[in-house]
Amino acid sequence: MTVVDRQEWDVVVVGAGGAGLRAAIEARERGARTAVICKSLFGKAHTVMAEGGIAAAMANANEHDNWQVHFRDTLRGGKFLNQWRMAELHAQEAPDRVWELETWGALFDRTKDGRISQRNFGGHEYPRLAHVGDRTGLELIRTLQQRMVALQQEDFRETGDYESRLKVFQECTVTRVLKDTASGSGTAAGRVCGVFAYERESGRFLVLEAPAVVVATGGIGKSFKVTSNSWEYTGDGHALALLAGARLVNMEFVQFHPTGMVWPPSVKGILVTESVRGDGGVLRNSEGERFMFDYVPDVFKEKYAESEEEADRWYDDPDTNRRPPELLPRDEVARAINSEVKAGRGSPHGGVFLDVSTRMPAEVIRRRLPSMYHQFKELADVDITAEAMEVGPTCHYVMGGVAVDSDTAAARGVPGLYAAGEVAGGMHGSNRLGGNSLSDLLVFGRRAGWHAAEYAQGLAYQRPPVDDAQVDSAAAEALRPFSAEAGREGEAGPPENPYTLHQELQQTMNDLVGIIRREGEMEQALHKLAELRVRARRAGVEGHRQFNPGWHLALDLRNMLLVSECVARAALERTESRGGHTREDHPTMDRAWRNVNLLCALADPTGGLAATDPGRGQIRLTRESTDPIRPDLLALFEKEELVKYLAEEELYE
Ligand code: FAD
Repeated sequence: MTVVDRQEWDVVVVGAGGAGLRAAIEARERGARTAVICKSLFGKAHTVMAEGGIAAAMANANEHDNWQVHFRDTLRGGKFLNQWRMAELHAQEAPDRVWELETWGALFDRTKDGRISQRNFGGHEYPRLAHVGDRTGLELIRTLQQRMVALQQEDFRETGDYESRLKVFQECTVTRVLKDTASGSGTAAGRVCGVFAYERESGRFLVLEAPAVVVATGGIGKSFKVTSNSWEYTGDGHALALLAGARLVNMEFVQFHPTGMVWPPSVKGILVTESVRGDGGVLRNSEGERFMFDYVPDVFKEKYAESEEEADRWYDDPDTNRRPPELLPRDEVARAINSEVKAGRGSPHGGVFLDVSTRMPAEVIRRRLPSMYHQFKELADVDITAEAMEVGPTCHYVMGGVAVDSDTAAARGVPGLYAAGEVAGGMHGSNRLGGNSLSDLLVFGRRAGWHAAEYAQGLAYQRPPVDDAQVDSAAAEALRPFSAEAGREGEAGPPENPYTLHQELQQTMNDLVGIIRREGEMEQALHKLAELRVRARRAGVEGHRQFNPGWHLALDLRNMLLVSECVARAALERTESRGGHTREDHPTMDRAWRNVNLLCALADPTGGLAATDPGRGQIRLTRESTDPIRPDLLALFEKEELVKYLAEEELYE
């Protein structure tokens, strides 16, 4: 039997980004002994990269803002496919979560009269993003960490041990959520009982036993070649949940942010924050045209300016002018840039121009966009106070994710499993508005921690046990890349290099399931994914378990391949264009699809992958109808607007 260190906790939170930390704080405050486990260094989660701000209808910059307007904007952005109850809770609770951060020590930028400043962002009717320059995520994580430390100090005073009720296991990767399948039939079967993980530095195995597990592992961007996402984004939580029997909802919706760097090649994909446009930056093609005026879709026509003059007036007088089209939701802007480049009106390196230099004094640019100023100066030798940036779409965010209950963040169908943050699906529908992720992390991180703690406490003395056989099988799975057979298993073939497989996967997803999708290409992608899965079985690594990046990648490949199959299958199935899913062969939004969710589950419900033929699909796709939107929420919209989105039978009702 493999040596495994075992510990017992009430709640285990996988991930130490905004969602994970907020969940852990809540669980601990509600009395649950809580462990946080993260594969990066503590404090280095992807959330740190968030730039523009946190969306919350605090009405500091425009008194007309309120949760109903925020709810409306969120549904419009998501093209009405959002899990509406999540969007409602999110809009209602986001202001309290921002205030709470302030009471925990966050230092937001201020308005002239001393309130938390709020900036404009695409798709938000009023300035709504609370921010700290363009480094909001860093302040968010710093504040949550500080709160964790304060709780640990409290625990030390009571118990003499800082980590008695809240402990962080950093640089540890979870490879399986463990389930109690041995304890018989009925509701007890299949409950969560802990996680299996390995320490990245030493390679030692670890089992954290707990009846409640919150996955808060972020997104999937590392399956695509051009992405703004960090190395952690290998879809681990999506895959862990799938393997534990959960379903993923609407995985076809992947957000391509319109503005990533396109040059030099080594930094292609790095984000250029939307704040640049929110603060007045404009997009131009190689002919100098502000082309976004040509791309305002019918559903948004009434809300966006028709001339440059009106758009420019809006910055000073938003009440009597309409917004500039550069501030359309991200999916619209990304498609427009793609079309301009395709039409031969792109910039020298295959993007378009984004200019703030002619719009604001240099000193204001340096103050409001300090990270952007340094990013371009250092990485591309471009001075954004004097010249335009070159930008193009980059894979940024996944709207699809674990299907959860809106109020509790419980993963549907798996008792004891919760999901919050980018890994959870539903909240953003087919397209997320900028700023709505940081608020989502706080609102649903808190709810996940709260309900996970309550669930664990409710079990009291009937905790599901961890089965040794399951631990052994998780250990064997983790060790597989070292085994001699790794290079010879199944069909004869040479050993495979995990880095090569990863590159091929990224190229496939980028080229065949990227921003513009076609049926034939997605079918091709599914064939290629099957080939990669077969080859991934032969992915071997040399050396030993002490810090071995090749081994880590070989294990991450399982997750990326599973998640990529979900994206490709769902994208092939949805024969319309909506939000982050654009089909060249079905270019319009189809109201008949408005109330359809696509759910991905593991084809083999026992969660075993080794026994299944990797050449065959591992994902089963089903459709379900969305819950009808509550009438009082529908009443927030004009009937003429609803007609553009809702299916015929919904309108009739
Ligand atoms: P993360 O912050 O990514 O945390 C995930 C955690 O899970 C990490 O600790 C990671 O180590 C851990 N983890 C992953 N897999 C495992 C595993 N197998 N085992 C153990 N641990 C694991 N959104 C906004 O609302 N406003 C913005 O201004 C904004 N700006 C952005 C700028 C950039 C450049 C990018 C890339 C995104 C931006 N976003 C923004 C989006 C937002 O930052 C993310 O959606 C959000 O931070 C995700 O938070 P999370 O808590 O879900 O995950």
